Amino acid sequence: LIQLYLPLNILGFAYREIRQGLTDMEEMFRLLNVPAEVSDAPDAKPLAVTAGTVAFREVRFSYRPDREILKGVSFEVPPGRMLAIVGPTGAGKSTISRLLFRFYDASGGAVEVDGQDVRAVTQDSLRRAIGVVPQDTVLFNDTIAYNIAYGRPGATEAEVIEAAKLAQVHDFVLKLPEGYRTRVGERGLKLSGGEKQRVAIARTILKDPRILILDEATSALDTRTEQEIQAALRDVSRGRTTLVIAHRLSTVVEADEIIVLQEGRIAERGSHAALMARGGLYAEMWRRQSEAVAAAEAAARAEEDA
Ligand code: ATP
Repeated sequence: LIQLYLPLNILGFAYREIRQGLTDMEEMFRLLNVPAEVSDAPDAKPLAVTAGTVAFREVRFSYRPDREILKGVSFEVPPGRMLAIVGPTGAGKSTISRLLFRFYDASGGAVEVDGQDVRAVTQDSLRRAIGVVPQDTVLFNDTIAYNIAYGRPGATEAEVIEAAKLAQVHDFVLKLPEGYRTRVGERGLKLSGGEKQRVAIARTILKDPRILILDEATSALDTRTEQEIQAALRDVSRGRTTLVIAHRLSTVVEADEIIVLQEGRIAERGSHAALMARGGLYAEMWRRQSEAVAAAEAAARAEEDA
């Protein structure tokens, strides 16, 4: 009975939360993964963010006792650098970002920010230091200005516009019937995936976190949208310690380090050039991806010619 009751109960909880309009992206990120409760240690202190170093030290993790998802993962991202995490579906890429955000606690090893174990600091201070740009952003049923300002409650209109410009969404907003006062979300104007992602980027620019988690969209966007989003992501990640769950070659090429995760272990690591030269899993992944891209482009050209 317990087994049956628990998931249903959690679903009911998630549903109610969503019904109440609780659509903060970070909350969604949490809810969609139905985490176990993590609570502040009795003596938890606020995280003291200094340079913004992120380190995983021999991290082990299982969602369920019978299946270990991370089997001793170690890396260090120096301040302001970018780590790209690649690997097959189910390898544990998103799990790494969930542990950094402390939706779950590692079962072995430690996750550290500036030398502080995330289990020893308050969740509130940790989450204020980290910005998340998810694949799918959920918008509030409110104006587009409100949706952007959410990144920093109390932001002025000028700050919202500045962030929108940096996120390359300002020109789009100006073309909407009521500009920044246009209502969006489920009951308002529906935005495309690329537009929503740019709103998420604008929010993150306002939040101004030292550490950033980017979850790149797997779905194909048109080339122009993709280039605009890439440019916006590049701008927002500049000077911030960034972990990116990377699906695009352009992102990984620019990363300072790439880790290739396979079945919960780091199978390969290094720069793009080093990994290509190695001719292993990574080189094979990109060979297949390049073929897929070339085939898609050829198909698009054939359609144009027809
Ligand atoms: P993808 O590229 O498909 O997003 P990923 O590498 O990000 O995959 P994760 O989301 O980290 O993979 O998941 C790793 C493994 O953990 C998967 O096998 C997944 O089924 C499992 N898993 C993820 N979330 C949970 C959960 N809440 N409960 C139980 N198992 C889970």
